Amino acid sequence: MKDNQKYCELCGQEYEGKFYSRGSNYTVLKCSKCDLLWADPLTDENYEKMINSDYFGEEIYLSKEKGQKERFRSQIEKVLKIYGNKVLKDEIKILDVGSGLGFFIDVCDEMKIYCEGCDINEKAVNYSNRERNKTRIGTVDGYYEDNSFDMIFALNLIEHIPHPKEFITQCARILKPGGLLVLETPIQESLFHVFARIGDYMTGYRMNNYGINTNGHIYKFCNRSFEKFKDLGFSIIHKEKIGSPLKEIFGKTTYMSNLNKILVRFIMPVVWFLAKIFGMENRAFVVFKINK
Ligand SMILES: [Zn+2]
Repeated sequence: MKDNQKYCELCGQEYEGKFYSRGSNYTVLKCSKCDLLWADPLTDENYEKMINSDYFGEEIYLSKEKGQKERFRSQIEKVLKIYGNKVLKDEIKILDVGSGLGFFIDVCDEMKIYCEGCDINEKAVNYSNRERNKTRIGTVDGYYEDNSFDMIFALNLIEHIPHPKEFITQCARILKPGGLLVLETPIQESLFHVFARIGDYMTGYRMNNYGINTNGHIYKFCNRSFEKFKDLGFSIIHKEKIGSPLKEIFGKTTYMSNLNKILVRFIMPVVWFLAKIFGMENRAFVVFKINK
């Protein structure tokens, strides 16, 4: 499956992507208008496999359950505060897109907030639904009625979606007036990205460590590309940087080559620490409000 994308998903056909780097069987392109980075082609034959695989495997993800739930709880509390006292907590309806094993829904259940989820990984949905039925297999599409949710959470999701503009448009449709779209996604304004750029440039674009590829993170956003959401009806009302927990960075080393292990165990923690000090952590937590 070749899914070529020469122009910017957010800015449209007039804005062609310029060469940024290359991977084994793809090129990384950058929009000349909004600086969005993406892999061209967007997906490869492994993408479908990845979606249906044990990628969201219980073993790795369940080991993160406690930490993730703590993070979700504080994120929900933060967004409730931003939303204000417009509606009572027990009247709020949340949609969790890319709900995985259902940890976010678990937290909402504990907090007595209505939340349903959707995910395209059938195994994850089955796991999430093992004791309740709040998750459907699918994406944010025509299934959902107009003006039906107060908040949509899409945490660590948008970078995986081949066509994020369609996703944002659907969110705009199904959010109630004044509703919120909450994203968490890796960003370019991070120290990891700056070092990756230097290393890549110095090796003649042979060291692509941006975390962008055709079957994982297809896109990498930045402040300028978030501004493009305004054209789709959203205002940015909150933005902050957050770092991946150091524990999670260490946790993945068993699957890596020796060279990468050295990188992850000795260099990454230093970069991670510096990033925290200088406010250049690797992900953004952004709250958008729909203008309707
Ligand atoms: Zn663009």
